[in-house]
Amino acid sequence: MNQKQITVTSPLLPPLEEFIPYLQQIWKSKWITNNGSFHQQLEQALCNYLGVKYISLFTNGTLPLITALQALRITGEVITTPYSFVATTHALWWNGIKPVFVDVDPTTGNLDPDKIEAAITPKTTAIMPVHVYGTPCNTERIKEIADKYGLKVIYDAAHAFGVKKGGESILNAGDMSTLSFHATKVYNTIEGGALVMHDAETKKRIDYLKNFGFAGETTVVAPGINSKMDEFRAAYGLLNLKQVNAAIAARKRVALRYREALKDVDGITFFDDQPNITHNYSYFPIFVDAEKSGMTRDELYFKMKERNVLGRRYFYPLISDFSTYRGLESAKPENLPNARKMADSVICLPMYHNLTDENIEKIVSLII
Ligand SMILES: *Cc1c(COP(=O)(O)O)cnc(C)c1O
Repeated sequence: MNQKQITVTSPLLPPLEEFIPYLQQIWKSKWITNNGSFHQQLEQALCNYLGVKYISLFTNGTLPLITALQALRITGEVITTPYSFVATTHALWWNGIKPVFVDVDPTTGNLDPDKIEAAITPKTTAIMPVHVYGTPCNTERIKEIADKYGLKVIYDAAHAFGVKKGGESILNAGDMSTLSFHATKVYNTIEGGALVMHDAETKKRIDYLKNFGFAGETTVVAPGINSKMDEFRAAYGLLNLKQVNAAIAARKRVALRYREALKDVDGITFFDDQPNITHNYSYFPIFVDAEKSGMTRDELYFKMKERNVLGRRYFYPLISDFSTYRGLESAKPENLPNARKMADSVICLPMYHNLTDENIEKIVSLII
């Protein structure tokens, strides 16, 4: 990697000297995976930190999506958003479910509740929204619709670690929520993820499913998968949890600096904080209006790249534009105008806890 390059993200790493004693414990116990002591401690610590009742750790943020769909026995069609990371839709595909794309609300980037009902058919069994950039979906409206039609709701909350609405964890909405602890996320366990559920029975079932369906030495209750988090990453996760509040505070500072510097720039828009929401500042997307700003999104993106500032066109292309999905009826461009407009104008600016003021200034100077 070029030393002078400003990357779009940088991982939160625990202090190495604190990790070593944890490694020594692992060597001593010789218990390296399968619901070990660090795994149990991390599940408990995350329940406390996040304000949720039950959580099950996974090896990444994609398998909890796949497993939640299995656990709830979702089939047929599921309503979802094209404005997300591909894993959201892939999880449906891996379960033999047909994704039905619905457009997003341009003020948040999240699935537009007003457009959900028109997409419901007799085959619809669930809704899978995403809290894009950590901004909460309209969970109340989605619940009303789901209840009216008897649909399950699984939130892809990969971006929403620690996000609260009215003081309550956003992860308590819906039937289940998934988290990603990938290196690029606000909170990471290198690779990792979790599923949040609301009752002990479901937690038990999910714990079976992520361990091949084993419910005892000789009992397999379901065709499970292997998605167990090992002790190394659970220990690492315990250490990172201690510093995640400071990291989120540092990200907030970066967001406030960007907003201040970009607020009067023609043709550049961004999201503000919402009242009553505890944000996690996981991303800082800007939207480029080519006519007003005098440059297209891609012109700005490549200009930044030339100057060693790596933004990310996140999310571009839309999931519905990838070859696997573009043949679907719901993937037609006229069905998804807001999502398309966002995908064509977005750049996520570098955002991480230790981004320096000097680098923020450099980034901003390329935009204004
Ligand atoms: C990161 C991410 C995932 C996948 O998580 P992994 O841990 O990389 O498997 C799923 N959905 C969204 C919206 C994501 O951003």
